[in-house]
Amino acid sequence: MSEPTPGQAAGPAFDTLPLPPAVLANLKRLGYERMTPIQAASLPPALAGKDLIAQAKTGSGKTAAFALPLLANLNARRFAVQALVLCPTRELAEQVTQEVRRLARAEDNIKILTLCGGATVRPQLASLAHGAHIVVGTPGRILDHLSRESLVLAALNTLVLDEADRMLDMGFAEDIANVIKHCPKDRQTLLFSATYPEGVTKLAGRFMREPQEVKLTERHAGTKIRQRFYEVKESERLYAVGLLLNHYRPVSTLAFCNTKQQCRDLVAVLQAEGIVALELHGDLDQRERDQVLVQFANRSCSVLVATDVAARGLDIANLEAVINVDITPDMELHTHRVGRTGRADEAGWAFSLASMDEMGRVGRIDEMQGSASVWHALSELTPSDAEPLHPPMVTLQIMGGRKEKIRAGDVLGALTKDLGFASSQIGKINVNDFSTYVAVDRGIANEAMRKLNAGKVKGKSVKVRRL
Ligand code: AMP
Repeated sequence: MSEPTPGQAAGPAFDTLPLPPAVLANLKRLGYERMTPIQAASLPPALAGKDLIAQAKTGSGKTAAFALPLLANLNARRFAVQALVLCPTRELAEQVTQEVRRLARAEDNIKILTLCGGATVRPQLASLAHGAHIVVGTPGRILDHLSRESLVLAALNTLVLDEADRMLDMGFAEDIANVIKHCPKDRQTLLFSATYPEGVTKLAGRFMREPQEVKLTERHAGTKIRQRFYEVKESERLYAVGLLLNHYRPVSTLAFCNTKQQCRDLVAVLQAEGIVALELHGDLDQRERDQVLVQFANRSCSVLVATDVAARGLDIANLEAVINVDITPDMELHTHRVGRTGRADEAGWAFSLASMDEMGRVGRIDEMQGSASVWHALSELTPSDAEPLHPPMVTLQIMGGRKEKIRAGDVLGALTKDLGFASSQIGKINVNDFSTYVAVDRGIANEAMRKLNAGKVKGKSVKVRRL
């Protein structure tokens, strides 16, 4: 399977939009050449200042669809919060923050702050005291800061509700309404939602000005996602996952199990086969969860194994494959699982393993999708070479992060300028408060770890370990 490259979206080019040259140049640097369908439909009205209700899923490029308009409304010389993005979960808030940060690079010194529940309040108060232009957060914690008056929205001009349906599902309706009461009436409101339950329409009716609706037809049934079903006996189910991986060799796969126990068993089976697989489950503490997600997103873990509950709120781009280790009895959930691959208009695989007992469920899936499922035999799956599937990268953890004033550029500089590695050998760098994670090519991992341990980052010795 070829490496998905960004910029394969097929819509109009970004330079057809009224965006400043610096923004267009930055988009080009990020590899965004053409708009995704949701961007092509949302950006013209949103950049013209219209309120928007847009139907978009994670992976459609929706973040840029609201980030570019909110950045266009921003005055960097004005030190006040001018844009607020409400998200259902901390994970989504952090992903949104990262994407906004990348898109904001066209202009100097735009401060973006993430304010989510679960984190301690005190550091957030300190950050707020320093000022921010853009705040991204979860409704409860934002409301908390508004009532403390640590956050003031008097200068706000753009409000974004991201994944509105999920925020309502999670019981945030009251909090959202209360947050909106703190926003100036004269503002642009952009609402993004994967589905349109009644609550979303009501919310829009209460708080938006003649919103323009942007709906896109579902892509699921289209050619982008290739679904294949494999009949398995119970005894061969977990083993079949390894066969699929070694045959199709996707770089990043999300494997769904119906139970936690099955997640654990599958990870054990895959690891025994030499495949790098990690489990995402509810018992992980926040730090462990972050580590798992960092490794998956930076392509140093091939397979993330999760239940639907654990995978909720995950926003991972460029998933090449989804594997349904079981067939879920919930048809909507099946569609949702499958829809996670083939994102931002990339092609993706969806494999489903079904035992005789699950054929009734598959029949209902066929009915719902209005097409017959495509079946293949496990015996067709021959490992394409003797080596088990390896992820292209390895994650190194540097003990030290934002609190030590380490920035991604410092780590990149240490590895390239000081230690002589090529920047093409270095992948994603995630700087957290106390740790930094850097993905490096598998082939240089040990050498990079050794040299970093012996060398310096930002003039200081650091401890580095391989995850
Ligand atoms: P999102 O739906 O906002 O989470 O975006 C999914 C992924 O697609 C992110 O990794 C974006 O960086 C990427 N992306 C968004 N828009 C484009 C584009 N026009 N061209 C290429 N990649 C894009």
